[in-house]
Amino acid sequence: MVGLDDILAARDRIAGQVLETPVAPSAALGALVGAPVWLKLEHRQTTGAFKLRGATNAVMRMGRVAGVTTASTGNHGRALAHAARQAGARAVICMSSLVPGNKLEAIRDLGAEARVIGDSQDEAFHEARRLKRDEGFALIPPFDHPDVIAGQGTLGLELLEQVPDAATVAIPLSGGGLLAGVAAAMKARRPDIRIVGISMKRGAAMAASLRAGHPVEVQELPTLADSLGGGIGLRNRLTFDMVRALMDDLILLDEDAIAAGIRHLASEGHVVEGAAAVGAGAVLSGQLTSRGPLVLILSGGNIDPAAHAAILREGP
Ligand SMILES: *Cc1c(COP(=O)(O)O)cnc(C)c1O
Repeated sequence: MVGLDDILAARDRIAGQVLETPVAPSAALGALVGAPVWLKLEHRQTTGAFKLRGATNAVMRMGRVAGVTTASTGNHGRALAHAARQAGARAVICMSSLVPGNKLEAIRDLGAEARVIGDSQDEAFHEARRLKRDEGFALIPPFDHPDVIAGQGTLGLELLEQVPDAATVAIPLSGGGLLAGVAAAMKARRPDIRIVGISMKRGAAMAASLRAGHPVEVQELPTLADSLGGGIGLRNRLTFDMVRALMDDLILLDEDAIAAGIRHLASEGHVVEGAAAVGAGAVLSGQLTSRGPLVLILSGGNIDPAAHAAILREGP
């Protein structure tokens, strides 16, 4: 497991490469909870999501390699592209032909090579593994890697200073790198803190795996929280065990609650993607309460502006 020392070292390593994002109070959500609610504004992170923390830590930790690669086109792919450019390393982001052109452009704009291969995510992964095997690339996965988890944990160190009396921290949950890192950092200093993971009902692989007692595959379904989709890996090494050990409660949200979270946060001036709105959605739908100060992590802001506008229009 990744521990506090790894996370403290990660903070020193990535300082200056990654923003220390602010927290802001939410009076409206606080009134619903009956306790102070703090929003961690990580959607303002460089590249638009917390993934830059883990990707930067992993890139800075690696020795001499030909370059870095991954098969993620979402926030991790962007983060890795940016981190590699900062380190002067080559990045090849592998993707299938199904990936929309704007995502491909976003990766290229960050200075990485977007390699389009086959027409499934599996084939893209295969190419990333080939680059590792045959060309000496470091394959940096989006969550199940100790340096990635330690990097994400630096967000938890910031929260210990920003909200020292936090009682509950609500964390968007997919592969569990963010939850594992933040919980490891915060529980090391505040063992009494309550860690709540939140996923969408549609295709939550970690939730299904915890129920089964081991990593399982689930069918991936379209969801407003698209950054929370995807599996946890049948051969998961770290995040499954860490989430099982460190998470106190898990909430699953339906699509209406995620949309309500997006709309509410927009009304407070925060444009976030669905994955980042699950905490607000859980408060609004009455599923998330806290006996003391509650922190919601707004994990990312990369949402298509037209999709965001459409969600606001549908609203009550
Ligand atoms: C990746 C991601 C998550 C989930 O993080 P995991 O480490 O996979 O649990 C949550 N929100 C956003 C915006 C993300 O990009």
